[in-house]
Amino acid sequence: MEDCIFCKIIAGQIPAKKKYEDHEIVVFEDIEPKAKIHLLCVPKEHFAYLSDMDGVRSALIGRTLQKVAKLAPVFGLKDGYRVIINQGDNAGQTVKHLHIHLLGGETLPF
Ligand code: 5GP
Ligand code: ZN
Repeated sequence: MEDCIFCKIIAGQIPAKKKYEDHEIVVFEDIEPKAKIHLLCVPKEHFAYLSDMDGVRSALIGRTLQKVAKLAPVFGLKDGYRVIINQGDNAGQTVKHLHIHLLGGETLPF
Protein backbone atom coordinates (compact mmCIF):
# COMPACT_ATOMS: atom_id res chain seq x y z
CA MET A 1 0.00 0.00 0.00
CA GLU A 2 1.58 3.27 -1.13
CA ASP A 3 2.18 5.95 1.50
CA CYS A 4 1.47 3.61 4.40
CA ILE A 5 4.23 3.98 6.98
CA PHE A 6 3.70 0.49 8.42
CA CYS A 7 3.74 -1.13 4.96
CA LYS A 8 7.07 0.63 4.42
CA ILE A 9 8.42 -0.72 7.72
CA ILE A 10 7.19 -4.21 6.78
CA ALA A 11 8.91 -3.90 3.38
CA GLY A 12 12.15 -2.73 5.07
CA GLN A 13 11.97 0.63 3.27
CA ILE A 14 12.15 2.58 6.51
CA PRO A 15 13.88 1.39 9.67
CA ALA A 16 12.22 0.14 12.83
CA LYS A 17 13.41 -1.67 15.94
CA LYS A 18 11.91 -5.05 15.17
CA LYS A 19 11.44 -7.48 18.06
CA TYR A 20 9.69 -10.33 16.23
CA GLU A 21 8.71 -11.23 12.69
CA ASP A 22 7.12 -14.18 10.95
CA HIS A 23 5.24 -14.75 7.71
CA GLU A 24 2.15 -12.80 8.79
CA ILE A 25 3.04 -10.29 11.50
CA VAL A 26 5.81 -8.01 12.63
CA VAL A 27 6.38 -6.54 16.09
CA PHE A 28 8.45 -3.39 16.52
CA GLU A 29 9.01 -0.62 19.06
CA ASP A 30 6.73 2.41 18.91
CA ILE A 31 8.73 5.50 17.90
CA GLU A 32 7.02 7.58 20.63
CA PRO A 33 6.61 5.14 23.53
CA LYS A 34 3.74 5.81 25.96
CA ALA A 35 5.10 3.30 28.49
CA LYS A 36 8.52 1.84 29.38
CA ILE A 37 7.78 -0.89 26.86
CA HIS A 38 5.54 0.04 23.94
CA LEU A 39 5.39 -2.35 21.01
CA LEU A 40 3.24 -2.39 17.90
CA CYS A 41 2.03 -5.77 16.61
CA VAL A 42 1.21 -5.35 12.96
CA PRO A 43 -0.29 -7.83 10.51
CA LYS A 44 1.60 -7.73 7.21
CA GLU A 45 -1.64 -7.57 5.27
CA HIS A 46 -2.68 -3.94 4.81
CA PHE A 47 -6.13 -3.13 6.08
CA ALA A 48 -6.96 0.08 7.88
CA TYR A 49 -9.45 -0.63 10.61
CA LEU A 50 -10.68 -3.23 13.04
CA SER A 51 -14.03 -2.65 11.33
CA ASP A 52 -12.50 -4.05 8.10
CA MET A 53 -12.31 -7.41 9.82
CA ASP A 54 -13.80 -10.44 8.12
CA GLY A 55 -13.59 -14.11 8.99
CA VAL A 56 -10.05 -14.56 7.63
CA ARG A 57 -8.78 -11.41 9.32
CA SER A 58 -10.42 -12.25 12.61
CA ALA A 59 -8.48 -15.53 12.60
CA LEU A 60 -5.29 -13.55 11.82
CA ILE A 61 -5.96 -11.17 14.73
CA GLY A 62 -6.70 -14.14 16.97
CA ARG A 63 -3.37 -15.75 16.06
CA THR A 64 -1.63 -12.41 16.61
CA LEU A 65 -3.06 -12.16 20.13
CA GLN A 66 -2.03 -15.75 20.81
CA LYS A 67 1.54 -14.89 19.74
CA VAL A 68 1.51 -11.77 21.92
CA ALA A 69 0.50 -13.86 24.92
CA LYS A 70 3.22 -16.41 24.20
CA LEU A 71 5.96 -13.86 23.46
CA ALA A 72 5.14 -11.38 26.27
CA PRO A 73 7.84 -12.74 28.63
CA VAL A 74 10.40 -12.55 25.82
CA PHE A 75 9.43 -8.90 25.31
CA GLY A 76 9.99 -8.16 29.05
CA LEU A 77 6.27 -8.15 29.86
CA LYS A 78 6.02 -11.11 32.21
CA ASP A 79 4.38 -9.00 34.95
CA GLY A 80 1.49 -7.93 32.75
CA TYR A 81 0.69 -5.68 29.86
CA ARG A 82 -2.12 -3.81 28.14
CA VAL A 83 -3.40 -4.48 24.62
CA ILE A 84 -5.06 -1.63 22.72
CA ILE A 85 -6.53 -1.25 19.26
CA ASN A 86 -7.52 2.29 18.29
CA GLN A 87 -10.42 2.41 15.83
CA GLY A 88 -10.97 5.63 13.92
CA ASP A 89 -10.78 9.32 14.68
CA ASN A 90 -12.44 9.44 18.09
CA ALA A 91 -9.89 6.91 19.35
CA GLY A 92 -7.05 8.96 17.85
CA GLN A 93 -6.03 6.36 15.28
CA THR A 94 -3.27 8.06 13.30
CA VAL A 95 -1.88 5.18 11.23
CA LYS A 96 -4.49 3.61 8.99
CA HIS A 97 -2.98 0.11 9.01
CA LEU A 98 -4.40 -2.11 11.70
CA HIS A 99 -2.05 -2.48 14.66
CA ILE A 100 -2.22 -3.71 18.21
CA HIS A 101 -0.48 -1.63 20.87
CA LEU A 102 1.29 -3.64 23.57
CA LEU A 103 2.17 -1.57 26.64
CA GLY A 104 3.91 -2.48 29.88
CA GLY A 105 7.25 -2.76 31.61
CA GLU A 106 5.85 -0.76 34.54
CA THR A 107 2.60 -0.21 36.44
CA LEU A 108 0.34 1.55 33.96
CA PRO A 109 -1.49 4.66 35.17
CA PHE A 110 -5.06 3.54 34.40
P1 5GP B 1 -2.49 4.89 16.52
O1 5GP B 1 -2.66 6.23 17.18
O2 5GP B 1 -2.73 4.96 15.03
O3 5GP B 1 -3.24 3.80 17.20
O4 5GP B 1 -0.96 4.52 16.74
C1 5GP B 1 0.05 4.75 15.83
C2 5GP B 1 1.35 4.59 16.55
O5 5GP B 1 2.38 4.49 15.59
C3 5GP B 1 1.70 5.79 17.45
O6 5GP B 1 1.85 5.34 18.80
C4 5GP B 1 3.00 6.33 16.86
O7 5GP B 1 3.92 6.75 17.85
C5 5GP B 1 3.52 5.14 16.05
N1 5GP B 1 4.31 5.51 14.89
C6 5GP B 1 3.96 6.44 13.95
N2 5GP B 1 4.92 6.50 13.00
C7 5GP B 1 5.86 5.57 13.34
C8 5GP B 1 7.08 5.16 12.73
O8 5GP B 1 7.51 5.66 11.68
N3 5GP B 1 7.78 4.18 13.36
C9 5GP B 1 7.35 3.61 14.51
N4 5GP B 1 8.12 2.66 15.04
N5 5GP B 1 6.20 3.97 15.11
C10 5GP B 1 5.47 4.94 14.53
ZN1 ZN C 1 -0.14 -0.55 5.36
